[in-house]
Amino acid sequence: IKKIGVLTSGGDAPGMNAAVSSVIRYASSNNIEVFVVRDGYKGLIHDWIEKADLNYAQSILTRGGTAIGSARLPEFADQKIREKGVANLQKHGIEALVVIGGDGSYMGAQRLTEMGINCIGLPGTIDNDIVSSDYTIGFDTALNTVVEAIDKIRDSMQSHNRAAVVEVMGNHCGDLALYAATATGAEVLSTTEAKLSEQEIVEQVTTLAQKKKRSVIVVVSEKMYPDVHALAEKIEAGSGYITRATVLGHIQRGGTPSAMDRYLAITSGMFAVDQLIAGHGGLCVGLDGTTLVAHDINQALSMPKQDKIKEINKIRSLNAEFIKQ
Ligand code: ADP
Repeated sequence: IKKIGVLTSGGDAPGMNAAVSSVIRYASSNNIEVFVVRDGYKGLIHDWIEKADLNYAQSILTRGGTAIGSARLPEFADQKIREKGVANLQKHGIEALVVIGGDGSYMGAQRLTEMGINCIGLPGTIDNDIVSSDYTIGFDTALNTVVEAIDKIRDSMQSHNRAAVVEVMGNHCGDLALYAATATGAEVLSTTEAKLSEQEIVEQVTTLAQKKKRSVIVVVSEKMYPDVHALAEKIEAGSGYITRATVLGHIQRGGTPSAMDRYLAITSGMFAVDQLIAGHGGLCVGLDGTTLVAHDINQALSMPKQDKIKEINKIRSLNAEFIKQ
């Protein structure tokens, strides 16, 4: 194998650049030329493809976001559109691709592999919602951002004897909420996997108010309640705490990648190149404990989601003194 491409697709995540950098440097050390594809699958069909060198790889390594750009292109599910992309790759003599993204991006990678371009997927998302990997590139950085934000909100709530609702990202995966609530000692936690009704949240906070808890943090995952500001009003009416809601939003997606995310990105980037050198395609890289493994993409996409309810309830039991289980 002489020439490979690398692209980032779907939502951006800190550490994607470290993965791209790793692919460029490791492939180069194996005498393979690397081309970056700008803006994900969109760049593939528009021929936004350029050769990358070691200086570029070094310049992006520690940066947040994705320097080569990401985009969504739903039309990529269409065979005719993908054929354009394959033709562009062939024009440059590119034989294989590393695709950094989520489950949707893996689907595209699988389809391209079926069309003769070996693809290896790397798990890049802050949401940790890729079942085939224990952790995803970007999760650790986003978690640290969320924890820093909640700690700051806590300072103010504690000063003023208030309650706060904090909505965090996760795209139907409660890991960011669960880990952040654990790390900050949040009193109330509601995730997709273990949802509390608005009424239950109000009741829990009211119990805390009766026990004279000085401040209360309620962590909720995104896409669960129609309006967290309205939820804050209900909590205020029920508990008596002045209650404010904060939607952390895109602050969670940016920032310098943590050392752990860089390490995962760089080691998995090398692992992906090794797969391509071995002639494999249609695989995605995942972390199984502390070991990198390659899964068949089709199998990876049908893996059942791990049941987190016991874990969530155990964390909730830290507040059993306040909250009836
Ligand atoms: P993520 O990769 O983070 O899950 P998306 O679900 O938006 O993000 O998918 C990213 C891109 O992957 C899509 O915009 C599309 O170009 C491509 N993709 C998604 N599903 C398919 C599919 N079934 N076939 C081919 N390409 C797909």
